[in-house]
Amino acid sequence: MHTFEFIRPPDPAAAIAAAAKAKTAQQGADVRFMGGGTTLIDLMKLNVETPNRVLDINRLPLDKIETTADGGLKIGATARNSDLAYHATVQRDYSVLSQAILQGASAQIRNMATVAGNLLQRTRCVYFRDTAMPCNKREPGTGCPAITGHNRTLAILGASEQCVATNPSDMCVALAALDAVVHIQSPKGSRAVAFGDFHLLPGSTPQRETVLESGDLITHVTLPPPIRGSKQLYLKLRDRASYEFALASAAVVLTISSGNITRARIALGGVGTKPWRSPEAEAALTGKPATGATFRQAADAALQAAKPQSENRFKIELAKRCLTHALRTAAA
Ligand SMILES: Cc1cc2nc3c(=O)[nH]c(=O)nc-3n(C[C@H](O)[C@H](O)[C@H](O)COP(=O)(O)OP(=O)(O)OC[C@H]3O[C@@H](n4cnc5c(N)ncnc54)[C@H](O)[C@@H]3O)c2cc1C
Ligand code: SF4
Repeated sequence: MHTFEFIRPPDPAAAIAAAAKAKTAQQGADVRFMGGGTTLIDLMKLNVETPNRVLDINRLPLDKIETTADGGLKIGATARNSDLAYHATVQRDYSVLSQAILQGASAQIRNMATVAGNLLQRTRCVYFRDTAMPCNKREPGTGCPAITGHNRTLAILGASEQCVATNPSDMCVALAALDAVVHIQSPKGSRAVAFGDFHLLPGSTPQRETVLESGDLITHVTLPPPIRGSKQLYLKLRDRASYEFALASAAVVLTISSGNITRARIALGGVGTKPWRSPEAEAALTGKPATGATFRQAADAALQAAKPQSENRFKIELAKRCLTHALRTAAA
């Protein structure tokens, strides 16, 4: 691993000022915040990330999980994934989030990993993690060997000719279905970004994964007040039962009244280049009877735009069955 300066900023303002000196907040950043370090240090050991300065933000006062005045939830950026998953309010009112986190990584990693770090975890595409290989996301303009190579686990929704990498997060799939908002502080002030706008599609700039600019510190994430009586479920399908990333996953939040679906929030994981909210599935569900036929129509709608790579056509039917089963289980 290359040498770097390790700094503990005394407060958020100092952290932001130090990070604002970076050339970019995207791939190749020369200054990086560090939460749990379970993504960052991993990638530094592989020389995929080579920051000159690492800013440890763990001692900043950003780890609280608390209810907001409007009855929603404020989740601090450095709150640990485990603390969030086992928080009583989350388990009671946002259970899809608790389920999603607990199906990710391992207990040890969840104890270290922070909420902001999870939002910014990187793709597991094997070429991205191997500096001997070309990769448009790591080194723009060098090519995408995954398109003709190993792409079994990669994306079928949102891909471009430049990059077909999957966003691997479980937590983010639940946050997409819960209408979360990401709060960011920078030298210019603070701003709030709707969850669906936070991650970017690869397009012709796959090295740019989020809206973050140099000096942007994620301070917290908020959730709107819970939908009372909603039925929530996260279903994750993978090659082995634990400690594995999703091939396909679904987060569903349903409200059902007299057998009809009155509100639906649907997001998919393991299949998209970003956490994949599906307005198509939501439209196919809303106002319809909560039956198997409706659930399958919603799954067909969610995957209608899917474009498989050479090794992952199976993901289309897998994701449809995942969503159908999640809906059926949640509605039961
Ligand atoms: C073996 C293994 C298995 C895993 N399995 C899964 C899985 O099944 N499902 C899953 O979802 N995840 C999985 N993960 C990923 C894991 O969830 C992430 O590594 C973790 O969530 C990252 O959090 P962190 O706090 O450690 O991030 P860090 O490594 O500290 O940071 C990640 C990135 O976020 C940036 N950052 C951190 N905090 C902030 C902030 N406040 N503002 C701006 N930028 C910030 C950092 O600069 C860095 O670029 C796995 C990881 C490993 C190592
Ligand atoms: S899919 Fe994306 S991350 Fe993987 S090799 Fe292609 S450009 Fe790189």
